[in-house]
Amino acid sequence: MLIVQKYGGTSVGTLERIDEVAKRVISAKKKGNDLVVIVSAMSGETNKLIEWAEYFSKNPNDREMDVLLSAGERITSALLAIALSGKGFEAVAFSGRQAGMITDEFHTKAKIEFINPVAIKNALKEGKIVVIAGFQGISKNGDVTTLGRGGSDLSAVAIAGALNADLCEIYTDVDGVYTTDPRIEPKARKLDKISYDEMLELASLGAKVLQNRSVELAKKLNINLVTRSSFNNNEGTLIIGETKMEGAIVSGIALDRNQARVTVRNVDDKPGVAAKIFKILSQKEINVDMIIQNTGKDGIANISFTVPQNELDKAIDALNGLGENFSIESDSEIVKVSIVGVGMKSHSGIASKAFETLAQSNINMQMISTSEIRISMIVEAKYGELAVRILHDAYELDK
Ligand code: ADP
Ligand code: ASP
Ligand code: MG
Repeated sequence: MLIVQKYGGTSVGTLERIDEVAKRVISAKKKGNDLVVIVSAMSGETNKLIEWAEYFSKNPNDREMDVLLSAGERITSALLAIALSGKGFEAVAFSGRQAGMITDEFHTKAKIEFINPVAIKNALKEGKIVVIAGFQGISKNGDVTTLGRGGSDLSAVAIAGALNADLCEIYTDVDGVYTTDPRIEPKARKLDKISYDEMLELASLGAKVLQNRSVELAKKLNINLVTRSSFNNNEGTLIIGETKMEGAIVSGIALDRNQARVTVRNVDDKPGVAAKIFKILSQKEINVDMIIQNTGKDGIANISFTVPQNELDKAIDALNGLGENFSIESDSEIVKVSIVGVGMKSHSGIASKAFETLAQSNINMQMISTSEIRISMIVEAKYGELAVRILHDAYELDK
């Protein structure tokens, strides 16, 4: 079998951990498999590099940020290859560029355009274990790019696709995908399997156990994806096309802490004004999420929406740049709590149960949005974890 394994930050967080990972890789290799291993930076490393850059500039250049951030993954890839060689197994470390990972030029959130896996395949043919720095690639004009936070998952899935691998294993610090973040709700239950669609919703709504774009790509390429722990040998969670979980209406709860709310007041209540606001935000590549507009009074309306916290300053600058008579308020002390489940399509009363549950604990919802398979609510940040726990209880997800 050709197996792609990905080890996240905590899995390679210390030299001892890298040694443990080397042993795990070797044990798979000894079973006769070909191994391609994608690694993240040591845990905390990427954040540390960002802080270092911010020491010098509030708004550092994205191109230089990519040169900086890609270094974290390169360090672990080299160390793991050296560890493997030290144990008598031939290994070669590749940066994103050396692995043939070609992206567009959108620095700090580049998209993969294609992978040219010749070097990987040649090394495999020579019997080597290939270790690749995740989270990075190279643009067509030769600049280093990174794929957005959590992007090593995407590197792994994309490489599994390019190599037509039999299996893609994502190793992390929990046993798999749970009904909610087990660090928030210890009663959370590990799922043996989950559908791509539900996983994609959970990941997009803040469950960072898998990066959302990696799930999207896994679905598109129909990759055999498993997430499991690198700290034990427990079975993980299989992410598959469809699960036949009769009766399971809600499959999980997600918490997204990276949200901020913007309210634009004093907006003329006439056609074209909202278009103008959201056009400038999209031109600046700001990801707008929930939007509500209050019905106008005296020809004046208010529009509120959410953006990722790290894009808040950029959003406010963009709106101020419009030169309109808006008054702009923002609030970063909010979180988004979401309930996800494909079974919700055919059941009523799911939303009202969520609203009642929050009301009983006196938690106010500032914004609500729904789709066929999810309900999202914006609440004050200090109530986020409590909301997750009481909703987990209300839908009996521990059962
Ligand atoms: P890695 O560094 O291995 O990529 P991450 O920190 O990105 O790991 O993702 C793993 C973390 O995701 C877990 O430690 C857990 O706290 C969090 N998490 C959030 N939601 C879930 C969930 N539904 N199931 C499992 N883990 C979750
Ligand atoms: N090191 C990067 C991050 O922290 C990528 C990853 O770990 O997947 O976001
Ligand atoms: Mg991750």
